[in-house]
Amino acid sequence: MKRLFYILILLYNFAIYAQGDGSLKSTYPTNYFQNPLDIPLLLSGTFGELRTNHFHAGIDFKTQQREGLNVFAAAGGYISRIKISHWGYGKAIYITHPNGYTSVYAHLQKFSKRIESYIKKKQYKKESFEIQVFPSSTELPISKNEIIALSGSTGGFVGPHLHFEIRDTKTEKPINPMLFGIQVSDSKKPRINTLIGYALDSASQINGIGIPMKLNLLNLTNGELLAVKINAFGKIGFGINAYDQLDGSYNKNGLYSLTMLVNGEKVHEFEASSFSFSESKYINLLIDYERFGNLKQRVQKCFIEPSNKLSLYTKTLSNGYIKIEDGLSYTVKIIAKDFKGNTQKVTIPILGKKDSIIVANTPTITPYRIDRTQFYKFQKNNVSVAFPKKTFYNDFYLDFDVNDSIVKVHTPTVPLNKKYTLTFDVSKYSEGQKEQLYIASINRKGNTKYETTVKKDSTFYTSIKKLGDFTLLTDNEQPKVLLKNFKDQQWMTHFKTLKVKISDDESGIQSYRGTIDGEWILLEYNVKNGILTYNFNDKKFTTAKHLLEVIVKDNVGNTRTIKAHFFRKK
Ligand SMILES: [Zn+2]
Repeated sequence: MKRLFYILILLYNFAIYAQGDGSLKSTYPTNYFQNPLDIPLLLSGTFGELRTNHFHAGIDFKTQQREGLNVFAAAGGYISRIKISHWGYGKAIYITHPNGYTSVYAHLQKFSKRIESYIKKKQYKKESFEIQVFPSSTELPISKNEIIALSGSTGGFVGPHLHFEIRDTKTEKPINPMLFGIQVSDSKKPRINTLIGYALDSASQINGIGIPMKLNLLNLTNGELLAVKINAFGKIGFGINAYDQLDGSYNKNGLYSLTMLVNGEKVHEFEASSFSFSESKYINLLIDYERFGNLKQRVQKCFIEPSNKLSLYTKTLSNGYIKIEDGLSYTVKIIAKDFKGNTQKVTIPILGKKDSIIVANTPTITPYRIDRTQFYKFQKNNVSVAFPKKTFYNDFYLDFDVNDSIVKVHTPTVPLNKKYTLTFDVSKYSEGQKEQLYIASINRKGNTKYETTVKKDSTFYTSIKKLGDFTLLTDNEQPKVLLKNFKDQQWMTHFKTLKVKISDDESGIQSYRGTIDGEWILLEYNVKNGILTYNFNDKKFTTAKHLLEVIVKDNVGNTRTIKAHFFRKK
């Protein structure tokens, strides 16, 4: 505690000195929240990190590759929300504090006794493992340093760690927890891997090339990077792929800020300080989405696309676009910083030269031209796609085709602003076939995934926010259900839990329901291994012989029911 105090004092001073440079570092209380874990803090994820379709809204604390570490309330207040979901945050607690902030703790293994019994009552009442409740300010008061939960790995395919957030209670905007004085040691500077140059209109070019271009980098003796000198003309921009490593951790984390200078003048700056969840989708305009779709590499642009409404920019002149004139020389510097201020720089020398364009940025023309402001409906064979106005951010030629029952709706290289509708006419199928039919997406590896299929007579449709290949598939197999830690007719007096494993190879699990002697029981579902767990503490039995029934339904409605008897001493 003492050490933390000194660190907080240090940080407080730092916060004062950081004032006046446009940074938000000085506006938050740095001595209010304490660390939610009592182990040395190592991060596997930083705030604002670039993730799929969203920015990381908190920081991820490593938990020594294990579960069950004590999680402490970062400050006093009351639990204002508990959410349990199969995916996402898993088991999560939200604590509202009197100073106007809310702290969030996610992927928890289990809650403290008081919270656990509170939420179990609600789960039994709702007859659902997944639940969300908003307790009033008097129901679950929390004192600072109180153990609220054990760390875990709940919520989809995540390893053990604690996801921690601080939000503005009123606006619900997540704020970088480091701004509140959470201290982790980081002496390493960010690493810049890739530099891309962008010619941004039909008249502009870099080295005669009109399409995005990877630029060669040289390592300087001072550790900085120098791009090989380029000739350019017209409206251009730059982007980099970079990551930051913290001390004692191999995880590739996000940057705190990315700044671009042109001839010594700061023209553009991005800072991972706070954002609102509603703007998170614009991450697909911040990154080079086409490159991400093709190579899975995230290049963060130092310029702002016209539809990009992100608030994470602390400075921008001409939206980060650089206008290169014939005969003039330019020096562009891109500066990547982590929260501690460790810095990596790349310098890009540019000579303005109007070369003839060797490789032009000419789009592949298709019959399906999209003007982003218009509504479109395209049809081929038994398939139609309908795009509401502003489904896309940009105008382009859509690739749409139906071949051997595979529907191609472009490739996942164009970001979507909203959902569109993909509709199949299924009138050629019998009623029986229709029941087991569903719409599936096909990823690049050829794996198929159930997409929420709405069935209306002889048309099936899905509202979806991704492009790529789709098809109709049939699932005529029931889910599988196996007794995991016991056999039918077994005595289970000394067992703490009862476990059943469920799976479905085709459309996937839609729902499950368990009862003992006809009464609903809480089965905790771990999506990682398909195991449903019942805790014998939930119920007191008055007889010895019991009947367990588990009903599992897949996404097209195929249902499997298993029954097993077990015995427990009264
Ligand atoms: Zn996280």
